Amino acid sequence: MQTIQNAIGGKLVTSTSPRTQPVFNPATGEATATLPLSSVDEVNAAVAAAKKALPAWAATTPMKRARVMFKFKELLEKHADELAELISREHGKVHDDALGELARGIDCVDFACGVPQLLKGEFSRNVGPNIDSYSDRQPLGVVAGITPFNFPAMVPMWMYPLAIACGNTFVLKPSERDPSAPMFAWQLLMDAGLPDGVLNVVHGDKEAVDTILDHPDIKAVSFVGSTPIAEYVYRRGTQAGKRIQALGGAKNHMIVLPDADMDQAADALMGAGYGSAGERCMAISVAVPVGDKTADALIARLKPRVEALKIGPATDKDAQMGPIVSEAQRDKIVGYIDAGVEAGAELVVDGRGFKLQGYENGFFVGGTLFDHVKPDMKIYREEIFGPVLSVVRAQSYQDAVDLIHGHEYANGTAIFTRDGDAARDFADKIEVGMVGINVPIPVPVAYHSFGGWKRSIFGDHGIYGPEGVHFYTRLKTVTTRWPAGIKSGAEFSFPSQK
Ligand code: NAD
Repeated sequence: MQTIQNAIGGKLVTSTSPRTQPVFNPATGEATATLPLSSVDEVNAAVAAAKKALPAWAATTPMKRARVMFKFKELLEKHADELAELISREHGKVHDDALGELARGIDCVDFACGVPQLLKGEFSRNVGPNIDSYSDRQPLGVVAGITPFNFPAMVPMWMYPLAIACGNTFVLKPSERDPSAPMFAWQLLMDAGLPDGVLNVVHGDKEAVDTILDHPDIKAVSFVGSTPIAEYVYRRGTQAGKRIQALGGAKNHMIVLPDADMDQAADALMGAGYGSAGERCMAISVAVPVGDKTADALIARLKPRVEALKIGPATDKDAQMGPIVSEAQRDKIVGYIDAGVEAGAELVVDGRGFKLQGYENGFFVGGTLFDHVKPDMKIYREEIFGPVLSVVRAQSYQDAVDLIHGHEYANGTAIFTRDGDAARDFADKIEVGMVGINVPIPVPVAYHSFGGWKRSIFGDHGIYGPEGVHFYTRLKTVTTRWPAGIKSGAEFSFPSQK
C-alpha cells in the first residue's frame, strides 16, 4: 500500500509521525494508501522551508512568476485525465465531474497568469508641489491553506496559484481523505519550474492545523471546510494576529416560481442536488416551490428522475453520481434520512440501503427526495452534505425569501422564473453571497470572487479573483518629493540674498 509523503523544500519527504490514517477508495471500501498525520516539527519544517524561499521568490519579477503559472496550466491540461482519475479514486465523484472540478481549478491558474497586471498600483503626479504618490500591492510573506475533501484539486487552486503569483510562499494542508490529487499538482508545479520551498504540502489533522494557526511566521491563512471548523480557525488565527479567510458550510435554496419552466427547473435540481452526490458547498439542498400546484408539478417531475439516477463507481462511464467519500459520512447521511422520517417529512424517494453489485462494500447512498419538510426539522436546519433534496413548500414569493433569510447559512441561492421583476427583486434583496437567476449553481468565474454571507464565511475577503489578490497582498503607498537639485546647476549667489 502506498504511503503518502509530504513535500517540503522542493523534496518529497517521508513523515516519521507515528500517527497515520488510511485513505479509502469509496467505491470499493478498500484502503488504498496510508496518510501520515504530521507532527508539529514536520509542519514547522514546512514553514521554515517556505520562509527560506521567500526573499528570492518575492524579489522575482511578476512576469517570471507568471511564466511558471503559464507552464503549470499547460501541464495541468496535459495531465487532466490522470489528475481526474486520482480525484475520483479517493473522492468517488464521476470522471466528467472530476474533469469539471479540474477545469475550474485551471481557470484560477489562468487568472494568476495575469499577475503582472493584477499587481499594478496607482500613481498620482503632483499630489503637492513637486510631490508624487504611488500605491503598490506587496506580498504578505509565508501564507497557508487548509482545504476540504470535496474539491481536492480545485479548492487548493483557489488559493496557492494566486498567493504564489503575488510573491508569497505557501504551506498547504490538504484534506486527509483525498491527498493524492494535490500531491500530483504539486509535482506538476515543480516540473513547471517553481523554485524549491515556494509551495510545501504537509498532511495532517487538527495538530497540523493548530500548528499553522499559531505559527508566528505565517501571516495569513485561507480555510475552506465546515462552519464549526471555519469559525474555530478564524478565532484562533485572528487571535494569533493573522489575516484569515475561512469559508464554511451551506444550505442552498432554490426558489421555483409558478411561471418557471418546470422541466428545466427539475433538470437543474437534479444536477445541483445530486451531482457529486450532493457533496458540494454550492449544491442545492432545498427546493422551495411557491404554491402547492407548483410543488406538486415539481415533485411529479423530480420523483422519476431521482429514481432513475445512475449511480456507480467513477470507472462506470454512464454513472451520474458516485459513492460518498467515507463510511462515516455515509452513515451520517443515512442518520439524517432517518431523522427526516421521524420528524414527519414525506420520504418520496428513499436512498437508504442502496447496494451495487460488485461494489457491496462501497460507501453508496441512493438519491433521496423529501417533500413537506418544515423549517424546524433537523434535515432542514443542518447541512447534510449528501444526495438528499428537501422540498419546503412556500405559499408566496415573500414566504420563500423569508425562509432563506431565516437560515444561518447564506452561501448560494437560485431562483427559477420567467418574471424579470421577481428575478431583479430577488437579486437585489436576498441576503446571500452568490445568486443564480435560472442558474442553479452560481459559482463565480475565476476573475470574479467566491464567497457566501452570514455563517458561510468568517473574514472580510472572498476567495480567488480580485478579492484573492487583496487577501494575499498588502497595500503600500509611497509619497515622494525631490527637492530642486543638480539640474538647476551651481548657485553662486549668497543664500541670504534670495
Ligand atoms: P472539515 O471542516 O471537516 O475539514 C476541512 C479541513 O479542516 C480539513 O483539512 C481538516 O483536516 C481540517 N479539520 C477538520 N477538523 C478539524 C479540527 N477539529 N481542528 C482543526 N482542523 C480541522 O470539512 P470537510 O468535511 O473536509 O468538507 C466539507 C465541508 O466543507 C462542508 O461543510 C462544505 O460545505 C464545506 N465547503 C465549503 C466551501 C465554501 O466555499 N464555502 C467549499 C467546499 C466545501
